[in-house]
Amino acid sequence: MQTNFTAGQLADPHVATSEKILRKCVHCGFCTATCPTYVTLGNELDSPRGRIYLIKDMLENGRPADAEVVTHIDRCLSCLSCVTTCPSGVDYMHLVDHARMHIEATYRRPFWNRLARSVLAAVLPHPGRFRLALRAANLGRPFAGLLKRFKPLEPFGAMLDLAPRRLPRATDSARAGTHPAAGPRRGRVAILSGCAQPVLKPEINAATIRLLTRLGVEVVAPAGEVCCGSLVHHMGREAQALEAARRNVDVWLGEVEKSGLDAIIVTASGCGTTIKDYGFMLRLDPAYAEKAARVSALAKDVTEYLATLDLPQQAARGLTVAYHSACSMQHGQKITMLPKTLLKTAGFAVRDPAEGHLCCGSAGTYNILQPEISGKLKARKVKNIEATKPDLIATGNIGCITQIATGTAIPILHTVELLDWAYGGERPAALPAPDTKMPA
Ligand code: SF4
Ligand code: SF4
Repeated sequence: MQTNFTAGQLADPHVATSEKILRKCVHCGFCTATCPTYVTLGNELDSPRGRIYLIKDMLENGRPADAEVVTHIDRCLSCLSCVTTCPSGVDYMHLVDHARMHIEATYRRPFWNRLARSVLAAVLPHPGRFRLALRAANLGRPFAGLLKRFKPLEPFGAMLDLAPRRLPRATDSARAGTHPAAGPRRGRVAILSGCAQPVLKPEINAATIRLLTRLGVEVVAPAGEVCCGSLVHHMGREAQALEAARRNVDVWLGEVEKSGLDAIIVTASGCGTTIKDYGFMLRLDPAYAEKAARVSALAKDVTEYLATLDLPQQAARGLTVAYHSACSMQHGQKITMLPKTLLKTAGFAVRDPAEGHLCCGSAGTYNILQPEISGKLKARKVKNIEATKPDLIATGNIGCITQIATGTAIPILHTVELLDWAYGGERPAALPAPDTKMPA
């Protein structure tokens, strides 16, 4: 694609990066067929190609964002299905990240939209505040229907709908500390504690720590770590995202210097995609560019690390698992086969639902800020999953677990919970008792 930026515009390193990305696009439109918003809405401006044109026009003309650009960029899930499909290697992720920063800097959103986004940015990255907010949601739940009747208040209704009625008790895995390897030590890793996940499903990291320590790996949950920054990064709040990234870089490299680390284990693929991008996000910060790149290289999804440990084949369990590949796993991190191979080796029969490339509609805060499109994508995803007639669903991202669980009675677990069980751990509490018939 031909671009027309001035030398002055290209002096801005963000514009220079976006210009290189834009030049790679050859307008072929292959990406439209696999874009969930284009498939759902059928509007070219809600396709990757349409959004690329909007971003190009906005940046080239040095214009502030307007309502049209904001509408179509806000509808983008950042699922990155287009990146997987594009034959020309267009780096849509960094282009849309830049567009979101530009929107945040140049566009004043309507009051209720601003309020919803500010509440999410102030609450979600902080486990203590998030826990309190979920408790308060029980009081507000009767008003969810009323809120959803007024378009500007819809996100507040969606928040109440998504809030679980009961919260699990916090486990030791959420606390900072070292979990020693059982037997001779064969590795040492840090684990990302995260922000929303330890509140919603602390059993995910608990299962990870049990499994890894049984396999001879020491696991440290370092003190001082914060949310990875992904949630605010996808809202264009770059200063807040970079502050979180710098803090985590310091904490993890402190651990590397203290006792060495083989990997930083991430159990939420959305967070993994962002941490693997820290090197890019902090590339313009001379004090952190190199350190952030080191951290990105150390970041591993838990399944990537487990695949290096040669887990033995287990006997068949007689359970069929529908594997839902989170967008951040398959498109963001390009991890496609590993989780399924691990599940098969652990004795589960694994099925791939149709349209596996399409997002479930979770996408960070998308199911709150865009509840209508998100709801349609969830219904489509659940239909495809249920068509495989599984006993249970496995996935590697807390956002997808929360989203899909509100659409089906089939139990949904993190892949690592099943692996922990298969290799000597507890039977996951989310599974019905062994003699109970699984939901059809
Ligand atoms: S990231 Fe997903 S929703 Fe956004 S343009 Fe690409 S395919 Fe479409
Ligand atoms: S597939 Fe790639 S090159 Fe083709 S229109 Fe989409 S982004 Fe551009």
